[in-house]
Amino acid sequence: MTKQFFDVNNPANQQIIAQVPNMTAADALRAVDQAHAALPAWKARTGKDRAQLLRRWFDLMNRDADRLARLMTEEQGKALMEAKGEVNYAASFIEWFAEEAKRVMGAIPASPWSDKRMMVLKQAIGVCVSITPWNFPLAMITRKVAPAIAAGCTIVIKPAEQTPLSALALVELAKEAGIPDGVINLVTADGKNSIEIGKALCDSPLVRHLSFTGSTPVGRILMEQCAPTIKKVALELGGHAPFIVFEDADLDAAVSGAMQSKYRNAGQTCVCTNRFYVHESLHDAFVEKLTQASKGLVIGPGLDKGVQLGPLIDQQAIDKVEQHVQDAVAKGARLMTGGKRHALGSTFYEPTVLAGVKKGMLITEEETFGPVAAVIPFTLESEVIQMANDSEFGLASYFYSKDISRIWRVAEALEFGMVGVNTGTISSEVGPFGGVKQSGLGREGSVWGMDEYLEMKYVCLGL
Ligand code: ADP
Repeated sequence: MTKQFFDVNNPANQQIIAQVPNMTAADALRAVDQAHAALPAWKARTGKDRAQLLRRWFDLMNRDADRLARLMTEEQGKALMEAKGEVNYAASFIEWFAEEAKRVMGAIPASPWSDKRMMVLKQAIGVCVSITPWNFPLAMITRKVAPAIAAGCTIVIKPAEQTPLSALALVELAKEAGIPDGVINLVTADGKNSIEIGKALCDSPLVRHLSFTGSTPVGRILMEQCAPTIKKVALELGGHAPFIVFEDADLDAAVSGAMQSKYRNAGQTCVCTNRFYVHESLHDAFVEKLTQASKGLVIGPGLDKGVQLGPLIDQQAIDKVEQHVQDAVAKGARLMTGGKRHALGSTFYEPTVLAGVKKGMLITEEETFGPVAAVIPFTLESEVIQMANDSEFGLASYFYSKDISRIWRVAEALEFGMVGVNTGTISSEVGPFGGVKQSGLGREGSVWGMDEYLEMKYVCLGL
């Protein structure tokens, strides 16, 4: 057993708030053994039975919502208001998949043979692994664990090294809800051990499915590591969301959607806008309004009253944001507001608006993951669609227009897994969340979310 611990920091003040076991690959494989041992009994229970346990878990999350939100803000930094929103969002996946557990449907296709009948069963895939990031410390876990265990799978969770406390609190509630030991297993580790744990989990022939949310480079590594054992993989990777404001858009609505899509979690979500394309006729007015609104954001430690924007997660994150802004300004972008570290110190960064952004700047290529809005003017619809699609990523996209023909045309033309039309917020447990191109594989949430954890079995019955 592991004897080492690693520190968990509060990003608002860099204070150590906890020490958590720094587990190893050997510990992770022990967790896989536990999951494997628990699988037959869990799989054999009825969907209805599993649904009741999930429902109890959901109720306990609601009971402890305030405590969970405060804990999340302490280790992750997001504004308490947003942390509360995330607790609800995370719990919604447990509620949803508790309901879905009862609705696993096989099929009986019409047989091509008069003396045989055909059946299709849907069965739990087996032991699953989920590796999750720090930006949504609860929701990224429930979105994977809830459908997995609802389907009858067991699971090993490896949360991000920055935010293990939310994960620990969540699994503690699962135990209180009566979910049996071994069904959900948690392995906490620092960044270094996480790499070796990831390798061991990918290599294990007992693990049948790996679901990962995080960066595209790590997604590539995990997919490659899963190849020898032909594991099923679900990947929710990076994004580089475009946000297009057409000439017929409602400007104020677009600015309000832009604020939501840009600054949620201080810009640290994979569906945050990274590129604003604004029609030349609205460009200056949009930049002006977005700049004013950005200046009005309340920045501070997430637990302080009224705060809307917390710190970035760590030093590496703020260095990247700084690099993107400096690169854009050096290549001719105009700084409308912000552009520097905030006077509060730590990893606080000022909300920033850049106008005159052009292709070739880092910010138009890489995910910034920070509170920086980059605005690019355009003239033609065909031109902006081409620019929006000119990315290896294909997760979320947004556009504002009131023209119904254009809405259909553009929604169909955008090469993204998700399109927000006249809205800057799209995430819900009911919608299928996921990307195309190098943003990932598979969909989470929705009536399709459980298919990921179910294997089809074809049974042919001779009469
Ligand atoms: P981010 O850039 O958001 O921190 P990462 O992709 O680096 O995203 O990390 C997301 C998750 O993947 C974390 O839980 C982290 O510990 C884990 N991780 C990072 N690198 C590896 C790796 N090589 N193998 C397995 N897991 C990894």
